[in-house]
Amino acid sequence: MKVFIELGWFFKQEKKAYISGILILLFVAILQLVPPKVIGIIADHINNGSITKTMLVEWVFVLIASGLVMYILRYYWRIMIFGSSVKLSRILRDRLYHHFTTLSPSFYQKSRIGDLMAHATNDLSAIQQTAGSGVLTLVDSLSTGGFVILAMAFTISWKLTLICLIPMPFMALLTSWFGTMLHKSFHKAQESFSSLNDKTQESISGIKVIKTFGQEQEDIEDFRKQSEDVVRKNIVVAKIDSLYDPTISIIVGISFFLSIAFGAKYVLNGELTIGELISFTTYLGLLIWPMLAFGWLFNIVERGRASYDRVATLLREQVEVTDDAQALDVVPTGDIQYRIREFTYPGETRPILKNIAFDLRAGETLGIVGKTGSGKTTLLKLLIREFEGFKGELLYGGKPIHAYKLEKLRQAIGYVPQDHFLFSATIAENIAFANPMASKEEIESAASLANIHEDILQFTEGYQTIVGERGVSLSGGQKQRISIARALLMNPEVLVLDDSLSAVDAKTEEAILTSLRQNREGKTTIITSHRLSAIQHANLILVLEDGSIIEQGTHEDLMSNEGWYKEMYLHQQLEELVEHGGQ
Ligand code: ADP
Repeated sequence: MKVFIELGWFFKQEKKAYISGILILLFVAILQLVPPKVIGIIADHINNGSITKTMLVEWVFVLIASGLVMYILRYYWRIMIFGSSVKLSRILRDRLYHHFTTLSPSFYQKSRIGDLMAHATNDLSAIQQTAGSGVLTLVDSLSTGGFVILAMAFTISWKLTLICLIPMPFMALLTSWFGTMLHKSFHKAQESFSSLNDKTQESISGIKVIKTFGQEQEDIEDFRKQSEDVVRKNIVVAKIDSLYDPTISIIVGISFFLSIAFGAKYVLNGELTIGELISFTTYLGLLIWPMLAFGWLFNIVERGRASYDRVATLLREQVEVTDDAQALDVVPTGDIQYRIREFTYPGETRPILKNIAFDLRAGETLGIVGKTGSGKTTLLKLLIREFEGFKGELLYGGKPIHAYKLEKLRQAIGYVPQDHFLFSATIAENIAFANPMASKEEIESAASLANIHEDILQFTEGYQTIVGERGVSLSGGQKQRISIARALLMNPEVLVLDDSLSAVDAKTEEAILTSLRQNREGKTTIITSHRLSAIQHANLILVLEDGSIIEQGTHEDLMSNEGWYKEMYLHQQLEELVEHGGQ
């Protein structure tokens, strides 16, 4: 029942609806006592032969009236209690979503998307059930159960009441046992559902790869197995659930047997009238629901508690990268100094960056090259504070990177990642992502700078063409250039192109780089690339190997070295020559 205390904040917030709902519920519980009593009275009059027509009409009227009032009131408490519980899932859903958007990339590295989706759907509905059906069954079973027992004991016979309650402790034991079993099996079923969700999400996202490698059958088989597992585990839940009702029926049956056997004896003794016995057994019938409800309550609350725990754990997940209390509320300039002695990814042991030291003044261009896996992207991820925890210093405008508010830092940087992502929206909206208020001219000028304007005009819908997962298919190069336009629209202090020109041809690359040089006066640009032609005009070029700088300088400096850079440069030139037929 701890979950009800944990949900206290919500009940407080919705106290008006809950209090009126519960009061109506209590009133209905009392009103329920009327019909059995009336039936008993009528039965006694029939038995004595003292029944009259008017009397019968009057009692029938009482029965109908109480039935009608209960019908209307039941509608209202349902609206109040269930209506409020829907609000709870909305509040939690909003909180969870908001929290998801603030969590660091490292959180998404260790979590599975399908799992997170399962929390946002299944778990929230289990919590909502606790606040709705849970509260209802708790109040209803306690009040109906309590009032009925009181009515039996005080208006009919306390002896008979005690006798018929003998099987009750067994009921409590069984309920608690079933509850534990259900909790365990439900937890397993939920976990299995999460895995299935995860698998489905991954397969649909990676469907192109699956098809290209002809792995459909294997994937379907994998899905079938996971799906079967979900069914198997849910069947276990259903079996325990189904065993519960018949078991309860046996106990209720024993209770009925005891009350009729002893009741008949009391009637024969003259301790009880036949009408009272009829009322008593009808009351006993009213007790079945609260007893069953008590079992369900256990079930609902167990599910709710497990789900609430999981959601609360997620909500407690710390945002790893946070602002210092006195963080500066200004956008940093593009002067950058790296003094990083070592950086290791969280949970790893091998350092990925070692002794990275260089200076970059605002307005300069930095080129970073090196083999795949040499640490180029990692170096940039530290710059945008996607990861922290390096040894050494990283300064912006002479101040440590932490000195700035994260929001301001991100405003200063236009980052175009390798794995660009376009939303299912128009091209214009995708470009204006960071600044939805941007004018048409600003959008088009960013697109021109990124050398994609002409391509966009070729589409029938122009800038209004829908792209992304549900839109037209763009070439890799087009997607890259739209992502670059998106970053350029911000006119950032620091533009970071992380291998973002890999899918465009050499000529387009040259055109983009030339327009960047002309239009980004005074602003810093950082480019990583496999193609050395992309960075040869940079003020500073770093060559990385295994996370360390092995060469640095301008193109001319590096060409006078007999190192990796010169060898690679000549090699790539030769390749280009061959591509163009040796001209
Ligand atoms: P590059 O951009 O030069 O190809 P990266 O910076 O992407 O190189 O990767 C450098 C190394 O860091 C690789 O060995 C890669 O496996 C490792 N790495 C990259 N990202 C992570 C991460 N999030 N967690 C752990 N290791 C990582």
